[in-house]
Amino acid sequence: MIDMDFTISQVADILGLERAPKARSKNSFYVKCPICDKDGYHLNINIAKGTWRCVKCDEHGGTLALYTRFGLGVEKYTKEAGRKALREINKRLGTTDNVRQTTRKKETPIDDTSHLTDSQLDTIYSSLIDIPKLSLRKEHKEKLLSRGLTEEDIQANEYRTLPELFSLPKKKPAALEKFMDMDFDVLYAEQPELKTMLKRNIYAGIYIGTYLYNHLNIPLDNVPGFFKVSDFWCFRYTPGILIPVRNQYGEIVNFQVRTDSGRLRYITNSSSGFNSGTVGQCRIHFPMNNPELGPNTVIRLTEGALKADVAAAFNNNPNIAYIAILGVSATSMLDKVLKEIKSSGVKTIVNALDMDKVTNPHVAKASKTLRKIIKDNGYEYSCLYWGKQAVCDVLSKQLDIMSSHNMYVTLTSPNLFYAVEKNTQMLYKHGYDCPEWSAPEIKGIDDFLLTQRQNKNNSSI
Ligand SMILES: [Zn+2]
Repeated sequence: MIDMDFTISQVADILGLERAPKARSKNSFYVKCPICDKDGYHLNINIAKGTWRCVKCDEHGGTLALYTRFGLGVEKYTKEAGRKALREINKRLGTTDNVRQTTRKKETPIDDTSHLTDSQLDTIYSSLIDIPKLSLRKEHKEKLLSRGLTEEDIQANEYRTLPELFSLPKKKPAALEKFMDMDFDVLYAEQPELKTMLKRNIYAGIYIGTYLYNHLNIPLDNVPGFFKVSDFWCFRYTPGILIPVRNQYGEIVNFQVRTDSGRLRYITNSSSGFNSGTVGQCRIHFPMNNPELGPNTVIRLTEGALKADVAAAFNNNPNIAYIAILGVSATSMLDKVLKEIKSSGVKTIVNALDMDKVTNPHVAKASKTLRKIIKDNGYEYSCLYWGKQAVCDVLSKQLDIMSSHNMYVTLTSPNLFYAVEKNTQMLYKHGYDCPEWSAPEIKGIDDFLLTQRQNKNNSSI
């Protein structure tokens, strides 16, 4: 029996499987099947049983098999693949505990964490964003402007475009010419995981891999996002906006991609599961616009690199800084970073996760984990709430459901937000969906700050 500290929903999330906008029941939800879905959502994930099955192609399995199939590209589940999946999931979610680590010591690490230093990663990733073909396209720039960033912010943060249709140059590098002569049937037979990428994205990836290899003259081993196709280095190419993830010193240590198609979603750059690929670490992002950290700095922690960039761009207070985890469960490196920034004298870390932390039991749980990591590192913890009116709306909907089912209601707590959070947990425990956060325009801290600023502008006119 394998002991798992994570749920099948978390595995679906780290794989970036796109969820159908509305879950049909509390016990299961649908995602796009990576094998057969372009438009619909046919792969059912059963949360209660920890199983999945695509109603279209009938692929199915358990929690680990979801990862071995779509994260590692293994077609038939094996115990060995399952163990590898367990290691990777734990690493990506930060759920590995010490007891289990010692029992795992004997195994040879595969896809081990990058041993490159941050400045080595920065050299490679900075060269990647210098590739002329990846300059930021107009439509992406407009999207970024509409979120409240200025031209200067956009330039300073160095966002790039991974075009949907990447046009290869007429005069191709020799290695790319050579690659284009290869037979895909042969490649697929040797590396079935390649089927999870579109051919044109593989070509774009080979172009980028070859370009960097030629320019830097260093192998791309242990660089998250890169892997080998036959003898060629390839970048795990996903069209969208390329968002640099930076450490405290502004070095680019990974990327997130805001994908173009489908529901809004973000992918953390990783080439895990590919030949010579590397797991993308769950780094902690520091926006370029942050003031210098000092004893008076209050750090607000949010989720997603771009969100933190936007919030930091709105910030005029020299005592407020933003940092971001790359997903609500992506806390594996938070502990290390909190220890590192201790020397700057920072005392307080504020939870500024999206407001569904009070209406979504899974985000609420992640919130609790954050609190523990922050407090364990000796920081003062507080939680930032906003959107009182929207929370009142949720509360009244909650009360309707709860009173019609004769449930005990937390109404009289002195803190409205806390009351709603309690009720959410109660509803979840009894198998009812909590009414969703119904004010998307102020769900994230960045949205809230933008709305606030717009309202201020309006009233001053
Ligand atoms: Zn399918």
